[in-house]
Amino acid sequence: MRLASSFLNRVSYASVYKAASVSALHCPACGVSQEDELQLLQPCMHLACVYDQEAQEFTYKSDDFKQREALSNEAFTGQLSTRALSRLGYADELLALELTRAGCWSHELFAFNFNVHVD
Ligand SMILES: [Zn+2]
Repeated sequence: MRLASSFLNRVSYASVYKAASVSALHCPACGVSQEDELQLLQPCMHLACVYDQEAQEFTYKSDDFKQREALSNEAFTGQLSTRALSRLGYADELLALELTRAGCWSHELFAFNFNVHVD
């Protein structure tokens, strides 16, 4: 049943608030900081995508994410939701963290895939 399976395929979601605007987000799977000291994105292998909820655009997509997007007919508009992510075939191995920083109006959604393995 489609309804039941889409209910089970739930992408996990949490919101993260950083009191220090320079404090970087760390990957919840491997602990690696996702930014260098210049606040440039340094994605680890778990990072699936980064979406700017205000600009409503992706600032990062992993190769796996690009492949899923190409295979789906998903058109992302507006704010990125966990529902849209689950339509790409992601389930509870994906954790979406919505990051808000102090003094910043931006909200960024970082999605980490815990199911990435290194060969
Ligand atoms: Zn990681």
